[in-house]
Amino acid sequence: MSLSKRDKKYLWHPLTQHKIHPEALPIVKAKGAILYDESGKEYIDGISSWYTAMYGHCNDYIIEKASAQMKNLDQIVFAGFTHQPAIELSEKLIEILPDNQAKIFFSDNGSTANEVGIKMALQYHFNHGEKRNTIIAFEDGFHGDTFGAMSASGLSVYNGPFEDFFIDVQRIPTPTAHNIEQVLAKLLEIIKTNSVAAFIYEPLVQGANAMHMYEAKYLDTILNICKDQGVITIADEVMTGFGKTGKNFASAYMQTQPDIISLSKALTAGMVPMGITSCTQNVYEAFYDDSIGKAFFHAHTYSANPIACATAIAGIELLQSTEIQEKIASIITSHQEFDAKIKNHPKIKGTRQQGVIYALDLNIDMDRYGNKRYQIFDHFMDNGVFLRPLGSTIYILAPYVISHKELYKIYNAIESLLSNI
Ligand SMILES: *Cc1c(COP(=O)(O)O)cnc(C)c1O
Repeated sequence: MSLSKRDKKYLWHPLTQHKIHPEALPIVKAKGAILYDESGKEYIDGISSWYTAMYGHCNDYIIEKASAQMKNLDQIVFAGFTHQPAIELSEKLIEILPDNQAKIFFSDNGSTANEVGIKMALQYHFNHGEKRNTIIAFEDGFHGDTFGAMSASGLSVYNGPFEDFFIDVQRIPTPTAHNIEQVLAKLLEIIKTNSVAAFIYEPLVQGANAMHMYEAKYLDTILNICKDQGVITIADEVMTGFGKTGKNFASAYMQTQPDIISLSKALTAGMVPMGITSCTQNVYEAFYDDSIGKAFFHAHTYSANPIACATAIAGIELLQSTEIQEKIASIITSHQEFDAKIKNHPKIKGTRQQGVIYALDLNIDMDRYGNKRYQIFDHFMDNGVFLRPLGSTIYILAPYVISHKELYKIYNAIESLLSNI
């Protein structure tokens, strides 16, 4: 029986309506920017398998470091024990994170990293003897699928059946030159009429919201107001982290730094899952007490798994290498050149870029989960390119190690879509 047939027998896929969705495509191998199917056909991974495999799939350096760790120490309870990979990773992260970050807390994925951030913010106030229970988030933000993270997410197709059970979240629009005054007014109004614990946001680029981008200076103003009002700021850098915006973290574009940062995805270079929530000394100190009740009672069994830590260390080493930094710079330039070439195409409504993230909106009516999406998806796959359009938005977030030739194959597939659509 083919893998596709066997898949159908027992597997239930994420974000999939199995009654109408085409069969899942088996991928048997991956190397660098390339995925291989059963017949040996190659696809360029234009979205780095959901922004994870930024240094290329099955990266030799990552494999070497992860397998060395596997032979030495696989897993140990992180309550009461510690180990070299976790310690070294914390040192490496503190070196590259915004200056105010002081402590590193481990979990398993991007959703739990945000869940931890939200719980930290709520308990921060609780430990200070204040009951603050409202979270502020952007409309159309995405922070994950666990309850706290989902409550903060504004994308309703994910949320519908669960909305009655949400934590209290108030929303503000993402800022633009036109609405910034209203956004600030609404923010102040929410802070005045609620007891606000935290503001959670994806800095500069909202991945799941079709790579919506907004300006650093407006976010800075919002963050300043939050700081003034004692609202804990949580930067969800799960997508934007580790070089994608052109700096190690998107937060580096702002003057005001967040109290809490959540990380995952490229953190472990696409090799294994892990989430991290970092915070300031001030946040940490709200929990540091003689009373055990003030401690942060949140744990995942695989917290700080040594193999995941070793993988993350290797990833950061690659990120800091001249080779990867040059690759990032070169992708940024290539995207700019491609953009100059196509942005006035009649089938294009708008384009945008932040670092290696490039997105364009097609000038056609399309439902985010409708059938036209599959046609566009199929066009790319037929051309040996894996892109995952979000509604009428097509975006590229390829591994840093993608070759010039591979990158141009993606551009060509987009251009041929524009001529055929
Ligand atoms: C993917 C993503 C998440 C959720 O991470 P998971 O590992 O899928 O749980 C949260 N926030 C942002 C910005 C993301 O892109």
